[in-house]
Amino acid sequence: KNIIFNGSMVDKSTVHIDIEDRGYQFGDGIYEVIRIYNGKLFTADEHLERLIKSATAIEINIPYSIKEIKNLLIKLINENNVTMGIVYIQVSRGVSPRKHSFTTIHTAPVFIAYTSELKIPKDSLSCGVSAITIEDIRWLRCDIKSLNLLPNVLAKQKAVAENCFEAIQYRDDTVTEGSSSNVWIVKEGVIKTHPANNFILNGITRQVILSICKELGIKTIEEKFTTDELLNADEVFLTGTTTEVMPIIVINNHKISTGIPGPVTKNIQSLFTLKIESICGP
Ligand code: PMP
Repeated sequence: KNIIFNGSMVDKSTVHIDIEDRGYQFGDGIYEVIRIYNGKLFTADEHLERLIKSATAIEINIPYSIKEIKNLLIKLINENNVTMGIVYIQVSRGVSPRKHSFTTIHTAPVFIAYTSELKIPKDSLSCGVSAITIEDIRWLRCDIKSLNLLPNVLAKQKAVAENCFEAIQYRDDTVTEGSSSNVWIVKEGVIKTHPANNFILNGITRQVILSICKELGIKTIEEKFTTDELLNADEVFLTGTTTEVMPIIVINNHKISTGIPGPVTKNIQSLFTLKIESICGP
């Protein structure tokens, strides 16, 4: 298995991460996950633009252009023969003697990318899954795709311990997002999701869905909604790179509407599938 390490493709077994890598010690870095369908990257430019944006926000300077990164990723996918999977990209601030403060001049970022096989979660997508709600205890820059994922990890762990797929977070009374997905509700035909500000990660899947809906004249609103609105919605679904468009049929053991995936969710699912096929082939 090959991986990308600081700009070159090498065998995974030859790479060793320094114990004083700031990503390892402080979670001082950022990452992206891009979906591979039929051996092709889906919305790679959007993900790589967000990678650069996240890096810039924490003063990491990635020494490669989007085009260079994309070419490396394509080479890696072909070399590893991945058809259905993901590529994980991580950039840490680099290696330096452990100290909270950093001097960007002396540390070269450590850039890695590797691929994994991942199937489409067909059964969950067609039947829907359950979720719990949990208080959002994260920092106030959730728009940065930072390596610091402890609150997300603990939230997802609680969901899994309760046999649920996702933990839907709320701050005060506002629903923000899942531990690794964006959250949408449908009420009387109106489709709503949290506005893209510092309280959520502006998901690429979220952006794709918003743009498909706009194109087709399907009305969506980027507006805050409460946990009450979530529990009393006609339909609830999640979006994310690996989550795709996932119907939520039960929250906190309480059925959403009649407890089956709704027509709006199903329609958005099929429009999203068409979008994937138009880019990566059927
Ligand atoms: N919110 C959070 C906290 C996430 O980690 C993710 C990514 N898995 C998303 C939303 C969805 O983003 P995307 O559609 O770009 O995968």
